[in-house]
Amino acid sequence: MSTAANVSADEIARFDQLASRWWDPDGESRPLHDLNPVRTAYVAARVDLRLARVADVGCGGGLLSEALARAGASVTGIDLGPKVIDIARLHLHESNLQVDYRLQSSSELAATEPATFDAVCCMELIEHVPDPAALVADLAAMLKPGGQLFMSTLNRTPASFGAAILGAEYVMRMLPRGTHHYEQFLKPSEMGRLLRHAGLELEDVAGLGYNPLTRKAWLSRITAVNYLLSARKPA
Ligand code: SAH
Repeated sequence: MSTAANVSADEIARFDQLASRWWDPDGESRPLHDLNPVRTAYVAARVDLRLARVADVGCGGGLLSEALARAGASVTGIDLGPKVIDIARLHLHESNLQVDYRLQSSSELAATEPATFDAVCCMELIEHVPDPAALVADLAAMLKPGGQLFMSTLNRTPASFGAAILGAEYVMRMLPRGTHHYEQFLKPSEMGRLLRHAGLELEDVAGLGYNPLTRKAWLSRITAVNYLLSARKPA
């Protein structure tokens, strides 16, 4: 077992480069800023955040971690980007919230705090790791029995290629080129299989609609581009 195995150094370097602008709503993290209220509401609708201990895996600069903490959750945010974790910590001075940010891999957190979290969130990370199955196994291990996993990622369809790569990286130049790799996108059926193999039960899949021009985001039945899911560890 190697805790560093399931990580691509290129990916970490790419995100670290964006760290200083992470909290700029008009910077490269702009889509994450725009999607954040919708995914926070999705989690809040399914978990009583006032009582919950939550892990945010691949937390980046902490957009979701802070939103969950603001709703009352006790949040541990982990990421392998040293600069993004620094920015996440710094931003707590501005928000006056408390989040336990750690430069730590998912396998380390799963090994040191197994069956600890009421909810685990892992948004827009799985499409960036070399071994998605190992990541899902780590996330499952962190959950208490009965706990819930929330993930979001990009589907592998012509529409997602058009929106996330051609549209966002080439036409609108909203994201740096090379941010996403189409072959690493996962279909909901493939996510379902990964979850089942990790002993989790898929409870819901919802499309995440986004209009980058109006900057509006909404839950939708269309999962062809970005989607959210929730799964549960049997009690
Ligand atoms: N979850 C956050 C950030 C998504 S960007 C949000 O949705 O707002 C993807 C993040 O995953 C980056 O911060 C990057 O540093 C991190 N990351 C990439 N590979 C990782 C890995 N193998 N383990 C942990 N974090 C990783």
